[in-house]
Order: sequence, then structure tokens, then C-alpha cells
Amino acid sequence: MDTPVQDLRSNAKTRSHFLHPWQDVATGEVGDYTQLQRSSGIHVQDSDGNTLIDGPGGMWCVNVGHGREEIIEAVTRQMRELTYFSPWSVTAPITEQLAERLAALTPGDLNQVFFTTGGSTAVDSAIRFVWFYNNCLGRPEKKQVIARVNAYHGSTYLTGSLSGKLREKANMDMVEDRIHLLPCPKPKDRPAGMTVEDFCDAKVADLEQKILDLGADKVAAFIAEPIMASGGVIIPPDGYYKRCHAICQKYDVLFIADEVVTSFGRLGHYFACKDVFGVVPDLLTTAKGLTSGYVPMGALFISDRLMADIARHATGARPFYSGFTYSGHPVAAAAAMANLDIFEKDNLLDHVRTIAPHFEAALRGLSDLKVVTDIRVKGLMAGVECELDPTHPDEDRDVGFALKVDRHCHDLGLLVRPTYNACVMSPALTITKTQIDDLAAKLRAGIQRAMAE
Ligand code: PLP
Repeated sequence: MDTPVQDLRSNAKTRSHFLHPWQDVATGEVGDYTQLQRSSGIHVQDSDGNTLIDGPGGMWCVNVGHGREEIIEAVTRQMRELTYFSPWSVTAPITEQLAERLAALTPGDLNQVFFTTGGSTAVDSAIRFVWFYNNCLGRPEKKQVIARVNAYHGSTYLTGSLSGKLREKANMDMVEDRIHLLPCPKPKDRPAGMTVEDFCDAKVADLEQKILDLGADKVAAFIAEPIMASGGVIIPPDGYYKRCHAICQKYDVLFIADEVVTSFGRLGHYFACKDVFGVVPDLLTTAKGLTSGYVPMGALFISDRLMADIARHATGARPFYSGFTYSGHPVAAAAAMANLDIFEKDNLLDHVRTIAPHFEAALRGLSDLKVVTDIRVKGLMAGVECELDPTHPDEDRDVGFALKVDRHCHDLGLLVRPTYNACVMSPALTITKTQIDDLAAKLRAGIQRAMAE
């Protein structure tokens, strides 16, 4: 018989067997995990029957909104028709159709689709593909990867190592010998007196200098989100992304656009790297909005050029020994197809482009609040940063404040779930002007109540 082990954790009486991501294991802190029971459109409902605006849109993912019958029906139909197929040995029309449809939407020659189970596995596959590519091209020493502080690329060993949220690395082992982090290109944190243009020059120079320090023949890739989402919606200076791409081209370094958040409408386009930032990357990763979070799925897009390079250098077969039991899962593919149908039927991209200025104006309206020290908005993603005393920075104090804002907003009917000291907003793309005003009013009241506390 098992010997009962005393549970030293403080919340043992409310113990849940669901270990959440980022949960404090030492104290067993269950925090305020609101139980959600229902969802519809831009709203969720908790177990007490309170209706809340879903500010983060799930986790940057419920792009077409909750409860869309079209996706529910498509998924159900697909499960009845074909539950599963092994992507190693067979294929299915629904997944073939999705790959073809996506290839037509991606920028440039990103025509090869490698399906994954989510964003982390898409980014992980991207890095593995880059290393595989350089092995195939006979340059096994070209393996170093450059990423950035405050970026988030996932939670596998490799993608956790690429992520630059430094305080989240404590007690976690990381890949040490192949990954290098550049300073974050956050304009607000530039040195006093420096213009944004000079700051942009400096951040681009950081990349070039790192490539030169490591040796261009050693550097395989640079990975960057067009906008750092989980880092707190960090929007780099104008021109930064494009100039980094030019540096990569100059030194034969592959450019990976991590569009796990920014694709599928968040910035008013299917993919933001070219349409918003003027960059056609060599590899592109997506997930989240691909199925609007109804079913897990991610994808890595690989350029025809890279595929052709491998073919040209090969003397025989070159299998890419990578893949997942659920690569191209037919039920996820059905969800993605129905999701794309909704984008077309509802003219969702036009809607985002039309409504984005209203979203921006509504959130910028919070700038009169003393604790709000930075408001960052692009498309339908926003970060409202709160600092109690910018002259005496204290991250823990400000994180504590943001959690208070979160609690008050909950009472007011808005789910926030801040990232550090930033209230990040990424609502369903179907949001209306009235709903945006409601969201901004609730956020204002939540911040005011936290200030008064
Ligand atoms: N890349 C970016 C930019 C992300 O924001 C995330 C998740 O938030 C990931 C990758 C990891 O995606 P997933 O959680 O689906 O593995």
C-alpha cells in the first residue's frame, strides 16, 4: 500500500491534480484560476455565472470568437468521416487541401507546409530544419541561432532556450552552446536622450555585431516575432524588422519569422511579416489563429528555395527525420479550413483593418492614468504597461499591481491576465466598436480601483 506523503504545500486543501503551466510547485499556490464554463463570441462565463470579455482571446488564439457553429460542425463531420491518419505513411484530402490553401496565402515562396501540434513544435521544427539544411549543404559548423531578450518562442527544451524572458529561466536547463540573445528592441527602454531612430540603428547593429563576433560561417539563423507578444506586446521601431532581414541576407543567415501570434488576422492580414513589416522570411511559424484555438495545430512554412538547395546538394535521399503523431491531423485540418471559411465569409481581415484605429484610440485614452506609462497597440493587439514609480523601477511591485488590476477587472467583467506589469489585450477579431469601448472602460475602472486600493 502507498504510504501517504504529507503535503507541505500551503493550499493542499484546495489541491487540484491539474498542474498548470508556470504554476508554483513549491507552495502549491493555486492562485486565482477562475473556472470557465461557457464561451460565446468575445465573452466567457465563469462558474459563478459572471460574463467576462475575454481580453487575451484565450491565449492570443480565439481569433474568430468562441462557439462558432461552422467549426464545431466541420470538426464533428470530420471525426465521423476520418478520425485519424498516420502522416508517415498515408494522407487525407482535408490536410492536402489545407496545405494547398495555406501555401496560397503565405508570402513569397513559403510553399512547403510542415504541420505540427502547436507553436512550440512549429518553432522547434524550424530550428531542427535549419540545422538539417546546413548539414545537407555540407556546412555542419553553421549552427548558431540568434534570438532576443523578452521574446517568447515556446516551451520545449529548444524553444524554451530560444525564449528571452530571463526571469522564467530559473531552475530550468537551457541549450547553452548554440543560442545567443540580443538585447530587446523595446523603444520605451532606450537610453535617456536617444532618439527612436538612433535606437533602431543600435538594435540593428546589435544583430550585425553578434553575427560578426560569432562568425557568419557559424551563424545559421535569426528568429524574431514581428511583435513580441508574451513579452508584453513590444513593438520594435519602424524599419527594424526589415533591416534585420537585410543583415541576415548579407551574411547568409536564415530569417525565421515567428508568427504564432501575429498571423491569421491579428494585425489585419493573414501573415504580418510581408504585409505589415515588408519581410519575406526563409521560414515562418504559425499556430493559435490557424484554428482559432478550437483544436491544437501549428505549422512551419519552408521556402521553395531552401527545399531546392537541399535537393541540389543531395547525392541521394535526404529524409527530414522529424514529425509528430498528430502532424496534419484531419480534425485539426477541418477546424482550420472552417476557420479560414469564416475569415472569408465575415471579411474578417477588412474588419480588423477598419476597427483597429478605434481599438488604438480607445486604449490610448487610458494615457491620463498616472500609473500607465506605456501604451503599445498594433492591429488588435495591445499592451498597457503600468508602473507605480518609474523613477524607482521595481518589477515585483509592478507585477503585484497588475495582478490587482486583474482582480478588479474580473469583478467588472473583463478577463485580463497580465504579462508582468502589462495588461495585454488580444480580443476576438469579431469585436465591435461598442465592445471595444466597453473593454477600455472596464480596464480604466480596474486600473483606477487598483490605484485606489
Ligand atoms: N511563439 C510565439 C510567438 C508564442 O507567442 C507562443 C505561445 O504563446 C509560442 C511560440 C508557443 O506556442 P504554443 O504554446 O502553441 O506551443
